Amino acid sequence: MYYPLSFFPEIETKSASEIKKFQERLLEEQIQYIALNSAFYKRMFHQNKIDPSRIRTIEDLQYLPFTSKDDLDAFNEDFICVSKSKIIDYITTSGTLGNPVTFAMTDKDLDRLAYNEAISFVCSGCSSNDIFQLTTTIDKRFMAGLAYFMGARMLGAGVVRVGAGIPELQWDTIARIKPTVLIVVPSFILKLVDYAEKNNINYRNSSIKRAICIGESLRDQNLELSTLAQRIKEKWDIRLYSTYASTEMSSAFAECDEGCGGHHHPELIIVEVIDENGKHVKEGEAGEVTITSLGVEGMPLLRFKTGDVCCYYTEPCKCGRTTMRLGPVLGRRKQMIKFKGTTIYPPALYDILDNIPQIENYIIEVSTNDIGTDEILIKASSKIKPNGLDKLIKDHFRARLRVSPTIEFRPFDEIEKVRFPAKSRKPIIFHDKRNNN
Ligand SMILES: [Zn+2]
Repeated sequence: MYYPLSFFPEIETKSASEIKKFQERLLEEQIQYIALNSAFYKRMFHQNKIDPSRIRTIEDLQYLPFTSKDDLDAFNEDFICVSKSKIIDYITTSGTLGNPVTFAMTDKDLDRLAYNEAISFVCSGCSSNDIFQLTTTIDKRFMAGLAYFMGARMLGAGVVRVGAGIPELQWDTIARIKPTVLIVVPSFILKLVDYAEKNNINYRNSSIKRAICIGESLRDQNLELSTLAQRIKEKWDIRLYSTYASTEMSSAFAECDEGCGGHHHPELIIVEVIDENGKHVKEGEAGEVTITSLGVEGMPLLRFKTGDVCCYYTEPCKCGRTTMRLGPVLGRRKQMIKFKGTTIYPPALYDILDNIPQIENYIIEVSTNDIGTDEILIKASSKIKPNGLDKLIKDHFRARLRVSPTIEFRPFDEIEKVRFPAKSRKPIIFHDKRNNN
């Protein structure tokens, strides 16, 4: 692959038709490679009587069936296109049946990943003059931390690997190394601020100028700052950039200074945004992000349904890039709720509830009511008497979502038991009790 020195690839400023042609050349190469080397896709082509050499354009992709997370789970090894001797890094993601799914990365794939991260950093206003403080895990079989490290290295920037948690060590590092950029889960920024305030650290005058934020959305559906992002900005006015990425995509959508969605890198991935019937949605409409990898050697994927729901935008960006942008992940396709004529995804509910200080903990239950539509019940606990709190919560919901779910107040322990069922390491906030689940 060609790595531009500026890490602002020319293709990202070309016209839609030039980008399409460019992608189709890469698609042909990727399909030829897959048809030769992937046991899973050889079987798929055969079973569906598809001649892979006839898949040449982006439109032709519609002749191919989708690849699901269940496929990756059930036929994991059949996706690997190389012999073991060519695999360098092994990554796992959690499978739909609870088994980890292995991702095999070759040397070339690691270069591609580093390139992806380098151009994403540049898209988010970073340069070789920056020092990145990595506050996320670099091991534990994850891809992201490794990608950030390699991207910073390819860019020629500095990087300090602090890892997750430990605010004291984070602030010690900031004082010692004077990094300019945090790579961080946004809610952790609030923990850093909290620690700084309690320990008289003058965080507003620290060396940190921006944060590359992962894992949580900074924006709502209208690309306005989420409640979480607003709370961060009120405390600490650094520049916040959202990124959206996943292991299966092995590439990222990074926001530029304009903050109007994450930019697509057309040399790395083809994106389709599809509705429940597998058809392409219109610009600005919510659909499931479906990807076809380009230039991947270890585990290339064709029309892989990520399960993530986003809107896309194609209007050229003020930053000079003409590439498609993806809005924030609104939620998981499977968790879509149709409530009183409005489509809601759980993260929009979390963003409201997480930011009402009177709420100690909560869970969300979705069920099917007598007339066959979705019903939302929020069970919450509060340290103060819930008198009036019910109305306050409902007002927040109406202001943000135009509708308000039912709220029940319950003891803290009762909710905590449901949030942390035995054997679960993560809290389970969303409980789907609908008939079709
Ligand atoms: Zn832009």
